[in-house]
Amino acid sequence: MSENTTPLPDFTRWPSFPFEGDMRVKKLAPPVDVEPPRSGEDGSDCVACGTPDDAYIWVSERWRVRAMDRPTGLPMVLILECRSHLDLGDLPNLLAAELGVMTVRLERAIRSLDGVARVHVNRWGDGSAHLHMWFLARPYGRLQLRGTFLSLWDDILPVVPEAKWRENVALVAAWLADFGGQANAEPAHIEWESPSTFSVPVPSGTDADPESGRRPATLGDVEAAETPYGPAVP
Ligand SMILES: [Zn+2]
Repeated sequence: MSENTTPLPDFTRWPSFPFEGDMRVKKLAPPVDVEPPRSGEDGSDCVACGTPDDAYIWVSERWRVRAMDRPTGLPMVLILECRSHLDLGDLPNLLAAELGVMTVRLERAIRSLDGVARVHVNRWGDGSAHLHMWFLARPYGRLQLRGTFLSLWDDILPVVPEAKWRENVALVAAWLADFGGQANAEPAHIEWESPSTFSVPVPSGTDADPESGRRPATLGDVEAAETPYGPAVP
């Protein structure tokens, strides 16, 4: 077996690259002849189509926006989906035009949050067939998080406080509802920090430090669970 001597690419020396130390390039797996179907490829097992409106922070006649189950490292990570089971290249003109409007509107809403400098908009689509656009907020002043690796930093940074995160989710939902549709996320009126608000319970007998427990369903978790083939997320 020959030694892998592929040189490390320049980006491993960028300030924004999250890792340091000894690294080597993974051996490239041979290409497959036929790619496996993505989740929801035939429409019958589509998670997005099977998820009710109340799991989304905002819904309208043709679009829905959802948040992660719990706060993550970035101030805000949201997903925009069309209601119809379509992928990006399949959108009819009406939805294609509305996608542009919705993208701009959601970017503005997230950028209006305190402490957000920039909003990265991504569409990968390797894991799930139903169109979903990722909106990732970069915290203001964190120059090291600029650019390509922001989605990796989401799993590295300390999780943002849940109270602040819920408040921000509600602000974005309210912003979108000003233009139509329905906001499902509202600011909590009592007990922000109630443990019952966590969807993943901390096992008894272990400490409750979020750094030592399971993290929520983040970009990385979804990637690990559903797309073993590359850097993409569903
Ligand atoms: Zn679908």
